[in-house]
Amino acid sequence: MRIETGEKNSVQAVRFFYPDKRSHRVTGKIFVIACNGIETPKLLLFSKDDRNPNGVANGSGMVGRNYMGHPTTFIIGSRPGRDLKITFEKTLGLNDWYRAGPDTPYPLGNVQGLGKLFGETIKAARPWAPLGLLSAICRRSVDFLAQSEDLPLADNRVTVDPSGRIHLRWKPTGLKAHAELVARARRAVRRAGFPFVFTQSLGIVATSHQCGTARMGVDAGDSVVDPTGRSHDLRNLWIADSSVFPSSAAVNPALTIAALSLRIADRGGLV
Ligand SMILES: Cc1cc2nc3c(=O)[nH]c(=O)nc-3n(C[C@H](O)[C@H](O)[C@H](O)COP(=O)(O)OP(=O)(O)OC[C@H]3O[C@@H](n4cnc5c(N)ncnc54)[C@H](O)[C@@H]3O)c2cc1C
Repeated sequence: MRIETGEKNSVQAVRFFYPDKRSHRVTGKIFVIACNGIETPKLLLFSKDDRNPNGVANGSGMVGRNYMGHPTTFIIGSRPGRDLKITFEKTLGLNDWYRAGPDTPYPLGNVQGLGKLFGETIKAARPWAPLGLLSAICRRSVDFLAQSEDLPLADNRVTVDPSGRIHLRWKPTGLKAHAELVARARRAVRRAGFPFVFTQSLGIVATSHQCGTARMGVDAGDSVVDPTGRSHDLRNLWIADSSVFPSSAAVNPALTIAALSLRIADRGGLV
């Protein structure tokens, strides 16, 4: 897919390409991109043209920059004895350490139910362990996910090469806070009666909470869209996905994306 711009530097059309080299062109008056925190900057950067030599909507140079994810760790507490019957495993969340407090100089993040793990799920992370053992651990486990805030850094970025291949560079921030969050969560799980606690941190491959790469702001020199989600450069272009996040918080993003999209539709006069 490629964005086509026209005379007054507005979006004129979007062209879709098929694997067999056919394409079709869609024209319109207004365009809303919502391809996500990686695909949106890819589309904007890949659509560069003579009017927009650094990429569409990229007068600020911020498209693709400020990529944020979350430092994330799986925490699995297991105990010997009978199998556990876990239901509604995603309904528990703890924000006890979310904010700085008397015994924490900085916010640590959020801990939440992970959804049930099985031996097969964690085999890839522990290939040397027999599947039977992993399954036995998971049948007697409670499973959590700890996540901490990642801050926007210009050098954490999505780029796209001439063939359209995406490259992602990410050096997570907040690792000290995250290590403290995991240590506290581990202690809490042990105290709750699960003596065996296993952890697995996720790295750059976990792009599920990707955001920040077309950030929202009032300064056209430092952001890609204005507070209504409208491009500073192309006035008939809006972005309504996680790429407009100026910060990542330390919680799952989907509800914020939904709320922001409704707000963009409303304030931008799109509905
Ligand atoms: C395994 C997993 C579990 C998750 N669990 C949770 C959770 O429990 N809670 C939560 O809040 N969040 C969760 N997330 C994160 C959440 O799914 C994302 O943050 C959210 O979906 C991002 O929304 P978005 O609108 O930015 O992009 P997306 O939801 O990725 O939507 C982008 C859409 O654009 C389409 N697209 C992309 N490129 C193009 C193109 N060039 N042309 C046409 N279409 C295109 C894609 O096919 C997709 O449909 C999870 C993510 C994963 C991967």
